[in-house]
Amino acid sequence: MLSVPEIANIKKIKSIAVLTSGGDAPGMNAAIRAVVRYGLAAGIQIHGIVKGYSGLLEGHIEPLDGTSVANIIQRGGTILKTDRCEAFFQKSTRREAANILRRNNIGGLVVIGGDGSFTGAHLLENETGFPTIGVPGTIDNDIAGTDDTIGFDTAINTALNAIDNIRDTASSHDRIFLVEVMGRSSGFIGLQVAIGGGAETVIVPERKETIPAICKTIDKGMKRGKSSSIIVVSEGKKAGLTTSLAKELERHGYSSRVCILGHTQRGGSPSAHDRMLASVLGASAVAYLLAGKSNAMVGVREASVVMVPFKKVIGNKKDLPAPSLRLASILSS
Ligand code: ADP
Repeated sequence: MLSVPEIANIKKIKSIAVLTSGGDAPGMNAAIRAVVRYGLAAGIQIHGIVKGYSGLLEGHIEPLDGTSVANIIQRGGTILKTDRCEAFFQKSTRREAANILRRNNIGGLVVIGGDGSFTGAHLLENETGFPTIGVPGTIDNDIAGTDDTIGFDTAINTALNAIDNIRDTASSHDRIFLVEVMGRSSGFIGLQVAIGGGAETVIVPERKETIPAICKTIDKGMKRGKSSSIIVVSEGKKAGLTTSLAKELERHGYSSRVCILGHTQRGGSPSAHDRMLASVLGASAVAYLLAGKSNAMVGVREASVVMVPFKKVIGNKKDLPAPSLRLASILSS
């Protein structure tokens, strides 16, 4: 079972602040709860910053006690709200943010979010010396340095439920369905959902797939007596990818239906896995800050909690595992 690393508390921090930033993900609340309750148990005060970096700049900072995070572990979204803050791209703004934190006697900042939010935290610490630590919260699981991110498991379970439902209709009507899942630049959701949902094929941003190759896969299935097909498509960067794919298939004589799962994958009650992951990573973030470690992300590597310097995380690409891509194709044939 994943556990919080046992590290000595050497830093004399009296108060830590926590914020959520970027896209929301199921399990963020469980992470906030862990930061608050682990911090309080360690004898420090915890402050919640409402609406990410925007709220920080507006001084929207509130003390959180144990009961303020009661009854949230099972809720999707984030009680602290989240935001995208253009102003934080400016150095002068980040300096002001550090001043606000120091004026509030806060000695460390936990940022729950993705690559962009970590970039903001990294720059804040580099430029002002204010200690920051990141907790990976994104459904895409596309953050380098960690095998897992908070929200990914819930998102794939949500997508799988939808695919199971779609398959009932696909097989009743002998239809081809293109199911679009989230993943603008990474196919982790698509790949895992394709394996778990028994999809005939998966289109991911990391791998070029031609229309004739997709047609061949559909034909192969038909020859073996399959009358319906599910094709999982990661949304990619270009809007309308799945719809244009359906049009292309139509031109090749294959009629299909498109189902875009969209934001349904972002919300919902976090899975058991995400609640556990968020609880351990939220608590570990506080443990590391109290041990005097910062400018880094807490993550998971081979079922253990690790701390990875932001400079090894930010902007780095996490590759889709080639064996899993092969497995998806073997199991669908
Ligand atoms: P995510 O954290 O999910 O990747 P975004 O990329 O939208 O989400 O980033 C969230 C916020 O983090 C941005 O709105 C901005 O406030 C901050 N941020 C992102 N990139 C940078 C950057 N290069 N410099 C400073 N702040 C950044």
